[in-house]
Amino acid sequence: MRKAALLFLLSAAVLFAADSANKSWVNNVMRIVDGETIVVMHDGVPETVRLFGIDCPDDGQPYADEARNYTTILVLNRSVDVQPVGKDTGGKTVARVYKEGKDVSQLLLEAGLAWWSRKDAPSDQKLKEIEQQARAAQRRMWVQPNPVAPWDYRQEQARKRGTEQEETVYVTRVEGTYHRASCPLLRRSVINVLSAVPMSLVDAKVKYKPCEVCNPPR
Ligand SMILES: [Zn+2]
Repeated sequence: MRKAALLFLLSAAVLFAADSANKSWVNNVMRIVDGETIVVMHDGVPETVRLFGIDCPDDGQPYADEARNYTTILVLNRSVDVQPVGKDTGGKTVARVYKEGKDVSQLLLEAGLAWWSRKDAPSDQKLKEIEQQARAAQRRMWVQPNPVAPWDYRQEQARKRGTEQEETVYVTRVEGTYHRASCPLLRRSVINVLSAVPMSLVDAKVKYKPCEVCNPPR
């Protein structure tokens, strides 16, 4: 009986949360995390908000700082109208954010500092159109001959980290260097081959230097 009552209360709380999650609010921007992520006060608590439908260059990519600076100029310490559309996979609020009636996602796209997110907003023709216009006008990052989309950049970074983790090199106890399996130094004597220990590149790099002969990955 008490359990049933508790379950009812819990489900009511969840429903209430789901309902209030999509209510819009107006408040000040406290902080800029990156081009498409801002922190806005919400009922007295700072809330991280991702701008809907765009992806700015990531840290490490050209124009990442420009995108962050532009978002700072546009909305930091300003009042914005936040209209949530849902949550991202990390649980962050995703919202259309308006400053003086203008969609901040669109302003970043217009400036050539954001990509239209094909994955998050596939049917948003307006965002698609604005990106195309910025590209045609070669604004900011679109002057680059081959700009890399941030989602491709993230995938490439993840792939690099993955291969580095998996890559195996060989170390011998005597000399403090690491080698490729094919290194002639490892094959020079039977003793060396026997004493060569396989190790992940990540671990080997901590203690050993790369061999000058076989030039293993660094
Ligand atoms: Zn070597």
